[in-house]
This record gives sequence, C-alpha cells and structure tokens, in this order.
Amino acid sequence: MKIKSVKPFILHVPVTGSQIADSTHSISHWGVVGAQIDTEDGLTGYGFTGTHAHLASDHLITRCIESCHAPLLVGEDSRDITRLWQKLARNPALQWVGRAGITSLAHAAIDVALWDLKAKAAGQPLWKVLGGQIRDKVRAYNTDIGWLSIPDDQLVAGAVRAVEQGFTGIKIKVGSSVERDLRRLAAVRQAIGPNVTLAIDGNGKWDLATCQRFCRAAEAQDVFWFEEPLWHDDVKGHAQLARATSIPVALGEQLYTTDAFAEFFAQQAIAWVQPDVTRMAGLTEVLRVCDTAHSFRLPVAAHAGDMSQVHVHLSYAHPACEVLEYIPWIKDCFTEPAEVVNGYFRLPTLPGAGTTPTPEAWARYRQPTA
Ligand code: MG
Repeated sequence: MKIKSVKPFILHVPVTGSQIADSTHSISHWGVVGAQIDTEDGLTGYGFTGTHAHLASDHLITRCIESCHAPLLVGEDSRDITRLWQKLARNPALQWVGRAGITSLAHAAIDVALWDLKAKAAGQPLWKVLGGQIRDKVRAYNTDIGWLSIPDDQLVAGAVRAVEQGFTGIKIKVGSSVERDLRRLAAVRQAIGPNVTLAIDGNGKWDLATCQRFCRAAEAQDVFWFEEPLWHDDVKGHAQLARATSIPVALGEQLYTTDAFAEFFAQQAIAWVQPDVTRMAGLTEVLRVCDTAHSFRLPVAAHAGDMSQVHVHLSYAHPACEVLEYIPWIKDCFTEPAEVVNGYFRLPTLPGAGTTPTPEAWARYRQPTA
C-alpha cells in the first residue's frame, strides 16, 4: 500500500435553485476541493473538503495539498493513517503559517482519501472498517428547504413537502431580523405540526443580546436546537446563552481542531456537537471529537452529511451520532450517492468512503487546480 502520488482536484457544483443564502453568505456553487491518492498496488483513494467555490482560495488549498503535504506522503504506507495524520499535523512547511484553516482543509482531503483507500483495500464500506453498523437507520434532517433567501410561502411549502417525503426533521435559517425569523419559525411549526423536529441555524450572525431576545420568544415553538447562534469562536457567549435558554445550543461546523471543541465542552457551551470531516483535519480528528462528545454523553450531528459522504458512514458506525444533515447539492457527483429514503440515509454498500467521483462529474464540473 505504498503511496505513488497525491494529486489535487477541484469540482464546482451548482446549488439547488441556482443561488441560496444564509445570514452570512450567498452562493451559486459548492466547491469540492480534493486529493486523489494512488498507490503502487493500483488502488485510488479520494477525499475532499468543501468551499464556497472561489477559485482563488481553492487554489490555496490545492497548492497546500500538492506542494506542502504530498512530498511527505509519497513512498509512505497508506495504511498508517494515525502516523501520517501526525506527520502532516507537524508538517514543517505549514505549522508555522497555519495550524488551522486552509492547512486543515488540505489535511482533511488527504486524511479522508487515506480512509477511502483503507476501506477499498479491505473490500468493505467505511462504516465496516470503523467497527461495524451500530444502528438500524440514520435519521436525516432537511436543511435545503430552509434558506433565508426562500420567501415565506415557499419556505412553508418546502417544509410541508419535505415532511410528505418522509423527513422527520427540518432546519431553517435565521439571522435576518428577529421579527422576520420568529414569523417564519412559527409559520413552519404550524404547518408541520408538533411531531417533526424543527431546528434553526444562525450561522454566527447575531450578538448575545439578540440571541437572548430571539430565544425568549422562540422557546414556544419547541426548537430542536439553535445552531451557531453566535460568532464561531465565542466560547463564553455560547456558555451564557446556553444558561439563559432552554433551547439546546449546537455548533462545531467552523471549529478546526480538537482543542477548539475542548473549550466548548469544558465551559458547557455546547449541547449538540457538529464536527465536519471536511473542516477539521479529516475523519481521524473528527473521531476524536465524537469519542469526547460520547464521554460527556452529548449527541453528535455531523455537519452537512450530504456534502461529505463520509458522515453517513460515520453516523452508522459511531454511538454518539444521532442525526445527520441532508443537503443534496453534490451527492450525484459520487459513485455511491448519499441517498435519503423515507427520511433515513441508506446504508452504503460499496467498498470505500463514498468519495469516488463519477466520470460525469469529473467531466462536467472540473476546474483547473492552479
Ligand atoms: Mg450550519
């Protein structure tokens, strides 16, 4: 399992309806910035990170993969995942210039490609390699019906349609104005009834006072969680909000390291744990966060399951993972799409991590890597 080459790739895939917005971003495409690792035995592993498809910053990641990480990997045994993780985390070309951000996104793509290789070499889906299937089904919740850019009537209609399709959980975006978001929340709750979980996501836009004012009124709507209510690194603020409201605080999609999660655990500032294998340094580091969450008996809801097929495997195999996000933008780019049937993710069956792009996606969405 000697590594022969490590090559970057970029796909830019359109989002649903050509443009979506949350409280902080408006995007037309999702960026799949990845690493392809070939071994001398003839196996190929794929891993990727996710971006907002800005080619200029995507190139910083591909450069990091190709020029900084790849030289440390060629000739190594791809099965030594933990040792290689440590080697890249201590990469002398990068540690001084960035222990998080672009460097971890590049590291994520490589780490996931190594897990993909490990599962392919075993001839098994990743969840089997991670220890086996520990739950019958992984419940999906639908985020793609809830963007801030969707007008009120279409938001309600989309939520109802998702429930009719079998979803038992949905999430809507907040972070515009307290009044507008409370109105939309109440309308959706009324339309879907009391038996569907309804979460909200602020994407870190509001300050503490606004969040507290919003939560006092939102508590009546049985909110499943409030995701990223405050600025992503604000541990103290999240701890204060968690003490002030009965709505559980969820976060983690913009935390890059186990150390960052550790502070939120220590300050009891987090109720739902949302790591992302494309944001942290891959599955190896996310597994550490999941284990820590489990030790605190906190549930994990990995971020954007469908933008990272790996989370489906993780959620089937890890005891802390209770529910998984569904956003379908890129699922059809892969040979085994992360499909939701009647509100639950289908159990993957093909060998690997589900990260192998289809030839069609390769031909249609590929961008230059430099
Ligand atoms: Mg979110």
